[in-house]
Amino acid sequence: MSKKIAGPEIERLVQLLARLPGLGPRSARKAALALIKRRHDLLIPLAEAIQTAVDRIVECPTCGNVDTVSPCTICQDGRRDPSLIVVVEEVGDLWALERAQVVNARYHVLGGHLSPLDGIGPDKLNIGSLVTRAHADEVKEVLLALNATVEGQSTAHYVTGELASAGVIVTRLAQGVPMGGELDYLDEGTLAAAIKARKHM
Ligand code: ZN
Repeated sequence: MSKKIAGPEIERLVQLLARLPGLGPRSARKAALALIKRRHDLLIPLAEAIQTAVDRIVECPTCGNVDTVSPCTICQDGRRDPSLIVVVEEVGDLWALERAQVVNARYHVLGGHLSPLDGIGPDKLNIGSLVTRAHADEVKEVLLALNATVEGQSTAHYVTGELASAGVIVTRLAQGVPMGGELDYLDEGTLAAAIKARKHM
């Protein structure tokens, strides 16, 4: 075990930062030090931004997105095409698709993928609410923009079955998303191409 080099408050800051994706203990120390050095223009504004997020972030009751307004900004946006729902596993995938600016639709965030070995069955995902939304008259197509992983694809097949009664066209991303590929890691061009050339399930 390494020796402590700072008081418990700073150790706690480092430990929490180290839990963030992409940050190990070493870079967490660097980040903590940068925050402490830049107390007024970084640490305090960050603390305030985090507190605001804690107070105001809510899960959209319609689509499962996270936002500070409910329903979320995207669900409230009347300029989006009401005939298309784009289904994603996680909010990060929604952000990736919005960055690519290729769909002008609303989304549905499943909250993960089916994974029987981890005990994640259909009841743990936002599938029932998707089926309800897909039954609305204005919805014509549901695009399953799920990761090109085994779990993502088996989830896509399950969801397609559940949507059978909704009278909508169900599509998936075209090949071009590499097998094992997670949307969040794809560049905008690849995502745009995969959406434009989408295929029927
Ligand atoms: Zn929403």
